[in-house]
Order: sequence, then C-alpha cells, then structure tokens
Amino acid sequence: MNEAFRSSYLDFAQLTAQLRRWQQAHPGFVRLESIGTSAEGRELWVLTLGPDPDRVRPAVWVDGNMHASELCGSSVALAIAEDVIRLHAEPAAELHGLPAHVRDRLREVLFHVMPRMSPDGAEALLKTGRYVRSVPRDERPNRNHARWLSRDVDGDGLALVMRQQDQGGEFVESSELPGLLVERTLEDPGPYYKVYPEGVIEHFDGVTIPSPWFLSDNQTDLNRNFPFQWYPEHEQVGAGSYPLNEPESRAVVDFTSRRPHLFAWLNLHTFGGVFIRPPGDKPDSKMDEEDLALYRQLAQWGEACTGYPMVSGYEEFTYQPEKPIRGDLTDYAYHQRGCLAYVCELWDLFEQAGLAKQKRFVDRYTHLDRADMLRIARWDAEHNAARALRPWQRFDHPQLGALEVGGLDPRVGLWNPPYERIDGICRGQSAMFLRVAALAPDVRVAELRCMPAGGELHRIEARIENRGYLATHGLASARKLAWNEELLAELATTDCVLDNPREARQKVGHLDGWGRGRFSGEGALYHLRSRGNTGARTLSWTVRGRGRAALRVGSCRTGWITRSIEVSRPR
Ligand SMILES: [Zn+2]
Repeated sequence: MNEAFRSSYLDFAQLTAQLRRWQQAHPGFVRLESIGTSAEGRELWVLTLGPDPDRVRPAVWVDGNMHASELCGSSVALAIAEDVIRLHAEPAAELHGLPAHVRDRLREVLFHVMPRMSPDGAEALLKTGRYVRSVPRDERPNRNHARWLSRDVDGDGLALVMRQQDQGGEFVESSELPGLLVERTLEDPGPYYKVYPEGVIEHFDGVTIPSPWFLSDNQTDLNRNFPFQWYPEHEQVGAGSYPLNEPESRAVVDFTSRRPHLFAWLNLHTFGGVFIRPPGDKPDSKMDEEDLALYRQLAQWGEACTGYPMVSGYEEFTYQPEKPIRGDLTDYAYHQRGCLAYVCELWDLFEQAGLAKQKRFVDRYTHLDRADMLRIARWDAEHNAARALRPWQRFDHPQLGALEVGGLDPRVGLWNPPYERIDGICRGQSAMFLRVAALAPDVRVAELRCMPAGGELHRIEARIENRGYLATHGLASARKLAWNEELLAELATTDCVLDNPREARQKVGHLDGWGRGRFSGEGALYHLRSRGNTGARTLSWTVRGRGRAALRVGSCRTGWITRSIEVSRPR
C-alpha cells in the first residue's frame, strides 16, 4: 500500500492510470465507468467495487474533490477504494482492526467511489496554481463589467498572488516574519498593501480595480448547485444558472437517483479537520431523533479513528447564523436520497498550527488574529518545507505597474495536508467509513420450509429477517421518501400451483435493524430492554401439487434475494 496518491496529489492522467490499473488487475470485482464528461472533455470516473456489480444490493457512495482546491479528497477516496479492493482480493488480511464477520458483511456491500468530481478544476489548480473553487469556467453571456482573470503574469508558470503598495491597503508586512502579510491595524505605520490574484483585469478602464471575489473568475460552486433547496445566485453565491446546470453535478445526481439502494454517502473536502453532518437547513431540535442517535455513533467512530469532532451543518457551520447554505451535496444526499451522509474536512491546519478552538467550529475560519497568522507561517517553515510562504518577486504589471508577485502558494499545507501527512489521513478516514458501510441492512430468508397441509396441499413458510444494523428503509427519516418502498415477497411455482394465486405477492413491510445509534436511552444496565422481533416476519403460502417454488424477497432499497424449495410429500 504505497501508491502515489498516499504521498502526492495526482493529476488527471495519473489518476486515470491508477483507476485503470485496478480495473485490469481485478476485473472480477472492479468496474470503472465514466458517468459523464466535464466541459473540457475529461471523464467523470466512478469505480464500482464488488463482484456482480449489477446485482442490486445495499450500496455506499464516496466522492472527493468537488472543490478543485481540495485535492486530498481524491487521495482519501482512492485509499478507501484500495482498502475495499484488498477486502476482496485478500479476504483474510487485517484491515483497520475490523473483525472477520464485519469484513464478510462489507464484501456484500457495493461501493461506488468517485475520486474527482471536478477534474477540470483540479487540473487547472495543479498545473497553473490558479485558484478554482469548483469548475474553471464562467458561462454567463455578454458580461461587460471589469473582473479579475487569474493567470500567470511573470512567466514562472504559476498563477499565485500579487501585492502592491497602496495607501488604502488592508495589509502590512509582519515585523516578525518578513514576507508574511497580516491585517493592518490602526497603529501600523505602513507600508500598506493591496493583495490581488495573480492575473489581469478584463475590461480594465485604466484606473478602476475590481474587487476579486471568492469564486475567482468562475461562476459555480458545485456545492451550491444541487437540487435540494437550491436558491438562485442573489440568495446563494455560487448557485449556478439553475440546479445541476454543470455537467459534473448533473452526472452525480443522474447516477445516484437511479440507485435507491444507496444508504451511506461520504463527501470529502479538506479545510478544517472536522466532520459535518446534516441537517444543514434546520437545528437538531427539529431533526429526527433516531437519525441523530445514529450520527452520534458516527461521531464516536470519527473521534476514535481520526481525532476530528462531528458537528451539525446548521448549528456550527452556517457562516451567518440562521442562514443555511443552499443547494449543497450532503443535504441532497440526506434529504432526497435518504443517505446517512456526512462531510469530512480532511485537514486540521488550525489544530496543527496550534490555534485556539472556537465555540462554533465555523468561527475557526474567521476569528484569527496576527499571532495566529504567525503560527501558521512558522508551522509552514517547520512542518511543511516552506511550501506555502514563498519569496515575493518584483514585477512590472502591464496594467497596474510596479508590484510583487508570488508570495503565497496555499495548495499544499494550507488548503491540503502536506504530502507527508496524506497517508495517515487516508487510513483514519477509511477505518471510519468502512464501519459506516458495515451498517448496511442485511435481508435474509432465515428459514424456508414446506409442510404437508392435507391431501394435495402443502404449506410453504418463510421467515424473512433483517440482520443488519440499519432498518430496511435505511435512516428513520428516509422512510417517508416516496420511492422507499417496503419489502415484498413473491412466490413463483413450477409444476405445482398456488392454491390462491392472489397470494403470490405478499407484503413483508419494513424490517427493523438491530442498531440504535448511541445515547438514545435504551440499553442501560438499570433498564435492559429489547424491541420485539420487529426485524423479522413470517409469511406462508398454500401450494397444490408437487414441484418447486422459488421465493424472491426484497425492495429497490435492499435489492432482492431468491431461494427455492422442493414441494413434495414427505417420504
Ligand atoms: Zn470544500
């Protein structure tokens, strides 16, 4: 397990080659398919892991790198894929401390892994250094206003940042660490700097400098472009022209909405060192209680496997109180696909640099002072081979005149973990997600019997059980989804016939799983109680004559299983 993605960030050709190597080495349980094409013509790769990939059964989804700058998501998605491949290729091998029965369970789960949702954005970032939030394009027609276009201006091949002395500048150079820009305070004597993206101004009038904005010269943030509670641009920056107007987000929704058997979803980002769970649109007090108990189990695993806390998107991750982020991917996965969905921000820069914790997690991104910037800069020098803070080079800009270029490259160390840390992060995430995947419902025909019932008649009795952690509907809140049908059992006869043909199809209903999440108040030693056998159901059919009967049980959510039995008189 020393593939390059565990110690570097792969470009698209390297990523594609890695996926193809796995497919060629393990054709029996690795399928590689492209679920769409990016605007620049790159394939949107999805790996499907598990034998007989078209057999419908409980499945999970992992995606990484929907934000172009968050490359480590690709590494972790690939690491999870590699671990699942190992699970099938070397069934007895040790894997993150998982016991044999859990590894057996995982071999029955189908894994869909999309390592790079935004290949155009990642490629622009890797090859040019240019900041791209998601996709490097802006398709809004006939725009005339002045704006920044990021590009290399000094010929070093990278589009980083520029600083220019300006009496109105909001930054000064740190007196302790030359080159480091910090926010200007009232007492600072100057010189003062303006900071711009390295690039040029389109529609420049010769005097007016436009404000750069966080999407750089791109239109859409893919994580605001999904259909659940999509709001237009004036309400939600980065929304895109309409829900799923980008080929990347559209391909994801096309693929996943045709798979009602998806029950868990991991959406990988990099900035923060935290797990973010639904709901993103309302407080926990309005969340389904059973869902919340399940997420407490995930939080425990997250803490144990990675050391990162799990917080609610709404409670701790709204940049403005009571203003939820609209059109994000996990809300789609949780509310519309009924998935146990969560985000991981893979890189805990703040923790690594020794910054103070904030009450709400999202405040860590903004409540920073000069001392914090110094800590980050020193951490970069000591632990990141000084990859982020770089020397400024004097440059005569064709539009703005004398300035300096290049002082900051946040790609490795700030936006993503240093190369040396990728492997450890991959291991922790895989150890956690494999446990989440093992929560899959597990429908079995526990018993199938045929008994004489007088004369020509036999009675066939089937006991259907869900031995999985999750109920057959998945999350409790997913039960209400219109497509989340209950289990059916259908008996087909050969040679013999059903006494009442209308009995062929019988409703099984949803079957409970054994899992209860954590801290739901059940299970304490002073109040030991179980539920009844709500995870099992016994059905029967009356058959006339001799022959065979085949029983098919399942739903679109759990997939189907078939068992058959001989119908005959006892000898
Ligand atoms: Zn992100």
